[in-house]
Amino acid sequence: MRVVVIGAGVVGSAVAAGLTRRGAQVTVLEARAPGAGTSSTSVAWVNANNKTPKDYFDLNHAAVWAHHQLPGDWFFPTGHLECAVSDEHKELLEARVARLLTMGYPVERAAVRRVRALEPDLVHVAGAEYVFFPTEAHVQPLRLLGRLLGEARDRGAVVECDAEVAAIETPASGAEVTVADGRTFAGDVVVTCVGRWTQHVAALAGVHVPMLDPAVSGQVTNGFLVITTPVAARLSRVITTAGLNLRPDGAGRLLLQSLPLDGRADPAAPVPADVIDEIMGLLPKVLRATDGAAVERAVVGQRAMPGDGRTVAGFADAERRVYTVATHSGVTLAPLLMGEVAGEVFGEESPLLAPFRPGRFTDGTAGPAPVPARRPGQQ
Ligand SMILES: Cc1cc2nc3c(=O)[nH]c(=O)nc-3n(C[C@H](O)[C@H](O)[C@H](O)COP(=O)(O)OP(=O)(O)OC[C@H]3O[C@@H](n4cnc5c(N)ncnc54)[C@H](O)[C@@H]3O)c2cc1C
Repeated sequence: MRVVVIGAGVVGSAVAAGLTRRGAQVTVLEARAPGAGTSSTSVAWVNANNKTPKDYFDLNHAAVWAHHQLPGDWFFPTGHLECAVSDEHKELLEARVARLLTMGYPVERAAVRRVRALEPDLVHVAGAEYVFFPTEAHVQPLRLLGRLLGEARDRGAVVECDAEVAAIETPASGAEVTVADGRTFAGDVVVTCVGRWTQHVAALAGVHVPMLDPAVSGQVTNGFLVITTPVAARLSRVITTAGLNLRPDGAGRLLLQSLPLDGRADPAAPVPADVIDEIMGLLPKVLRATDGAAVERAVVGQRAMPGDGRTVAGFADAERRVYTVATHSGVTLAPLLMGEVAGEVFGEESPLLAPFRPGRFTDGTAGPAPVPARRPGQQ
């Protein structure tokens, strides 16, 4: 089978790898360069922690295990530690822990001594409650992407960069994809994996998949990320608190995120100086030995968010020639999508993906747009 995969983010790279594992002849068309989209601005926390409803939790939970089956030096299976200080946060956390335990999700309530052993530089706040999620993880997303796309290339996939798709035709059989410079690429099936550009690219094939507009400031799609210079603090895992989330970002750098500030994120503007100051001001309150930390980079990330907030995966046409994948939490989901999407392209329906078909946007069964809750445990 010949398959044209559009988009070389972490999702398209995973899908390309999965298809080549099944023997498909794959061409990947990428408008810019691999990782040029959302995959390069991600917290990259691998989790199913606060993912609801149950079908979306099941998808993400299976994906957490898929990461553990794909170990490598981009993958940090060190878990996630959440710290709750306010009564409101403690209640939310307690309710989430109770729910996750009924669903078989590994969760440990952690005493201060255990927290000190896990993260010796974490600042302990009197009365704080801690929960450790041992199977969660984080990745270096571009290295994961490189691993997946590398496997696809090793198995014969051709990766075309600077190949922005401008037209998708579905003649009597197969599909033909034309890129901006006029070159055409033929396949039996086209798989669109273009993240936040999905509405536009799917429409080229006559498929309707509405996405929240990531260009609109203050939406759930947009979020600040601040990356520090290397610091000599000890941090081994994702830490979440009500005000600040952080994780290691390689070579002593820290990646910082403050969900309560994300309502101000405007992708058309630089990160405001007072937002950076506020995020950096929170850091020493959470992690010791960070006083000399400076900002290496501050960005506004733009999430790929389908119109109802739920993953989209499936054929949208009766002839099964155009398959669309678009999802938030794509870093968590990529190693699972690798096998599940490739299987579906080869005609094997995935029970995990069955609740996420694109047809819901045309048959009127899609839910409402997600509202930005920006609460601890979310991403
Ligand atoms: C602030 C923030 C925090 C996040 N945190 C997490 C987290 O902790 N855990 C998690 O799992 N996920 C997280 N995410 C989400 C995750 O990063 C994304 O879901 C994932 O990166 C999406 O990958 P993708 O491959 O679908 O899209 P992208 O990485 O955007 O890739 C799409 C590719 O398609 C290409 N493209 C677009 N149009 C065309 C065209 N016409 N022709 C050819 N190519 C085209 C683009 O150039 C791009 O390279 C976060 C996102 C943000 C913004």
